[in-house]
Amino acid sequence: MPELPEVETYRRFLEEVMLHQTIAALEVKDAHVLAVEEDTLRQALVGRTVTGTSRLGKNCFLLLDSGQVLVLHFGMTGDVGAYRDEPDAPRFTRVAFHLGSGLRVAFIDPRKFGRIRLADSVSQYQSAKKLGPDALDISAAELQARLGKRKTFLKPLLLDQGITAGLGNWIVDEVLFQARLHPERAAHTLTTPDFEALHAAVQLVLSTAIQHEATYRAFPASFLIHAREWDDSATPGTNQHQYCPRHTTTKIDKTYVGGRATYTCPICQPPS
Ligand SMILES: [Zn+2]
Repeated sequence: MPELPEVETYRRFLEEVMLHQTIAALEVKDAHVLAVEEDTLRQALVGRTVTGTSRLGKNCFLLLDSGQVLVLHFGMTGDVGAYRDEPDAPRFTRVAFHLGSGLRVAFIDPRKFGRIRLADSVSQYQSAKKLGPDALDISAAELQARLGKRKTFLKPLLLDQGITAGLGNWIVDEVLFQARLHPERAAHTLTTPDFEALHAAVQLVLSTAIQHEATYRAFPASFLIHAREWDDSATPGTNQHQYCPRHTTTKIDKTYVGGRATYTCPICQPPS
């Protein structure tokens, strides 16, 4: 599933190929991924120029010279690509944006859970979807203000997109491992240094993932991710190293927290 690091990688790609480009035509190959009427979308896009890109959590935004915003959400399997000639269109291209330059930008989505919609602005979309600040932008003090009085488990709070946007399941496990915090710690028991460690871990995990363009096998050996079992066998990082990267004879525990598969080191992350 495209998480924040993948979506940031897509945003950078779209910025590179679409910035200052005019959208000459909209080609809809499968309207499943449209959360707006096709004609409305076409009227909003054709003839418009892309003036910028932005991202909030797992949502990517193309800013248009009309002031409107195109919102891309990539669902389970969404991706982006570019091509010039129809025979080169990537497989599972659902929508293509034809640019004035002749380049075509593909919204690719095999399973069609991704969505394309329009919004009046990024902040309008953020409040309509009740999204918190982006996980890369949130400060340690803001995290503490949002979590410090909550008496529930840390992990589900970090997954809550209304508290901070963009932290998915494996990312939260990695963050908690790097910060040496147990996922079932009650948030209100964390000290200010704990929140500082949590914030530093969010920055470390997201910046590492973005730097490696979300190619997990390239992550440093100090990352817990190499010990995860992946449901998707095509994903690298399959379960060859089930031991803690810090304590190489300690096995990583797999449990469920809030119904989500959760990986922890029993030594690095004591329950309280
Ligand atoms: Zn450990």
